[in-house]
Amino acid sequence: TIAYLNGEFKPLEQAQISPMDRGFLFGDGIYEVVPSYAGKLVAGNLHAQRMNRGLSEIGIKVLAEESNWVAIAEGLLARNLDHLPDQNVGIYIHVSRGADTKRFHAFPEGVKPTVFAFAFSIAPSAVPDRTQAKGLHVQTQEDLRWRRCHIKSTSLLGNVMHFQDSFGKGINETVLYNQDGMVTEASVSNVFAVIDGEIVTPPLDNQLLPGITRHILINSIRKDGQYQLVERQITLEELKGADEVWLTSSSKEVAPVVMIDNQAVGNGVVGEVWEQVAKSYHTHKFSF
Ligand code: PLP
Repeated sequence: TIAYLNGEFKPLEQAQISPMDRGFLFGDGIYEVVPSYAGKLVAGNLHAQRMNRGLSEIGIKVLAEESNWVAIAEGLLARNLDHLPDQNVGIYIHVSRGADTKRFHAFPEGVKPTVFAFAFSIAPSAVPDRTQAKGLHVQTQEDLRWRRCHIKSTSLLGNVMHFQDSFGKGINETVLYNQDGMVTEASVSNVFAVIDGEIVTPPLDNQLLPGITRHILINSIRKDGQYQLVERQITLEELKGADEVWLTSSSKEVAPVVMIDNQAVGNGVVGEVWEQVAKSYHTHKFSF
């Protein structure tokens, strides 16, 4: 596997960073995961823009010539596609504030950010088929992460703990709700539901990541015009009573949920609306 570190492509095992790196000591960094199929990135520019927004939000400055995220992702694809023969490849890109000489919370002056990226296999992107799709089982928990969830921070311990709690029970994800009982997102994905014939998803704010898959799906649904889509708050009760629930993320695309807290969603099988909109996502995803 060829990775990328600070301007150079090199074998992953030769990519080394300092233990004083603030990414390691503080989780002080921003990351992205960009999916690709057959060598084509999905929404590379949208991922690059979110990366730059996150970096500017936490005050990390990467030189313009070193922050061409799409070029780094394409460089990794060019160097790795031959040994990732299934051609379904995720690109992980990570920028930390860099290595300081001391461990001190304040942002250091004159430290060069660390830029690291590598490629890994992801699931293939099949044409959505409700008779074939395996529905996910999820649980719900109060969101116990921090309150800047719109920043794609490398400090993922809160997400890791919510995800592990479901994984340890043999289920797929943990859907999160805030102190007011409103659903925000899940530990590694965004949430959609079909309620009274309308597709709903929580509005963007500091309680959730502005998912690129979410963005592509919303715009694909609006382009097709077959269903109404509303960004609004969803109570936990509404979610549990919804006809359909889906999760979105770069690696799982649009995934149907059939069980929440051991109760069936709708009639317990993968829904028709899911098949329609997931097909629409599948058709439109390379045009963003
Ligand atoms: N929400 C969280 C907490 C995530 O970690 C992710 C992605 O991994 C998402 C949502 C989905 O974002 P995207 O569609 O950009 O992958």
